[in-house]
Amino acid sequence: MSSSMFRRKSRSNVRHHRAQWRRAIAVPRLVTCPNPACSEPVPAHTACPSCGQYRGRQVLPPR
Ligand SMILES: [Zn+2]
Repeated sequence: MSSSMFRRKSRSNVRHHRAQWRRAIAVPRLVTCPNPACSEPVPAHTACPSCGQYRGRQVLPPR
């Protein structure tokens, strides 16, 4: 067990790394709405705000 094994990242490095990790999770991936009549860009795993469909099912009241 050498002392180098206990060497830690600096506080700023840890905070920078966690900030990047958080940012990567928060970025929404955009997919195209599967509804052929709509085809709007929609965040992944989200019901389409325009036509209200998610995976071929009506989950929101359509406008
Ligand atoms: Zn749609």
